[in-house]
Amino acid sequence: VLLKAISHAVQRIRGIENTCYRMGGDEFVIVVPPEHYENFEQIVENIRKIFEKPWFLKDADYYCTMSMGIVTFPDLGDSVADLIKKADIAMYESKKAGKNRVSNYTLEIGSLSGRRLDMEKNMREATAKGNQEFEIFFQPIMDIRGEKPKCTGAEALIRWNSTELGFISPAEFIPILEESGLIIPVGKWVLNQAMATCKKCREFVPEFRVNVNISYIQVLKSNVLEEIVKGLDRHKLGADGIVIELTESGFLESNAYLIRFCNGLKERGIPLALDDFGTGYSNFHYLYNLNLNTIKIDRSFTMLALQNTFEHNLLQHMSDMVHDSDIKLCVEGIETKEQVDILRKTKAEMIQGYYFGKPVPKEEFYDRFMTEE
Ligand code: C2E
Ligand code: MG
Ligand code: MG
Repeated sequence: VLLKAISHAVQRIRGIENTCYRMGGDEFVIVVPPEHYENFEQIVENIRKIFEKPWFLKDADYYCTMSMGIVTFPDLGDSVADLIKKADIAMYESKKAGKNRVSNYTLEIGSLSGRRLDMEKNMREATAKGNQEFEIFFQPIMDIRGEKPKCTGAEALIRWNSTELGFISPAEFIPILEESGLIIPVGKWVLNQAMATCKKCREFVPEFRVNVNISYIQVLKSNVLEEIVKGLDRHKLGADGIVIELTESGFLESNAYLIRFCNGLKERGIPLALDDFGTGYSNFHYLYNLNLNTIKIDRSFTMLALQNTFEHNLLQHMSDMVHDSDIKLCVEGIETKEQVDILRKTKAEMIQGYYFGKPVPKEEFYDRFMTEE
């Protein structure tokens, strides 16, 4: 009933009365004929306006949003299939930006979405082939409380070297793994690799831990807690063999699944670290309500703290405050000896950064950090 009501409303707009088509589902294609090009803007506006008011259907008001993508002819394409594909790409841009938007197809949007589709396709193939193109690198996490910094942990960081597309950075491909749901199988694989490496490192450093980044999609759409618990069992690791890293941004909307996940970790004694602290809202409320074991100060904040007095004081006070609780502070992005010295004057317990080591394959990690001196 709603689709019919919308169709009728669109067909009443002057200029497109006879050129509206429903493609299936809730998608429509509207062609503006050349004789109405001069009213183009007005037509788009009139379509948009339809969705401003509620629809009165069966005694109730319904609000409904739309996303529109525009492609122009003949400059951006000369076949029907090509034009529809491009309009579709622009429409997805609108959807992504939030509802009730209108986007024009541009060459830039086109090449980005082309690359995205290529990446997703290659990623599906890579995961189907047993993740051979993926590799986990390990970056040392140093405990600086003693006289000499000691490597007591590592962060597992995924790398993708695609046969077809070459090396792609996690910042680019992780969002696609998340959107496509592939983060669930890939994330399981990461956990498994991280635990195997931890087991090996514990032969040298008995208290060794590996930090694993967990995406919200894994928490919301899979039973990742069970996966973690089973994995620890399989690898004969204690609950503190891994540290789960969750980013601050995901806590903005408190969510029942997320809270349940964090409580589940706590019940089982699995440590939780808050990643990226200092990049978002940095809400101090989390610090005591999430049963955190570690707060990781993001590199962007670290850089400010090493330059500006204000951020430096903030870091200093934070390390004092956190020091009095059970939470540990890990400062990320340390690249120079000078920065290490500054941090050793605070109460931060751990440091991660290029100064001690970049992320490297596990063999190299063992060679460099897991040897008796
Ligand atoms: P993150 O968890 O905050 O990881 C730290 C990032 O900072 C890593 O980038 C690391 O290589 C980089 N880094 C560490 N020390 C330094 C330094 O001294 N200088 C500079 N310039 N950079 C430093 P990377 O590996 O590119 O990872 C980016 C993000 O991708 C990670 O940020 C994490 O959020 C995500 N990620 C990586 N692996 C996984 C994974 O297996 N699963 C999930 N869900 N996310 C992952
Ligand atoms: Mg992390
Ligand atoms: Mg981080």
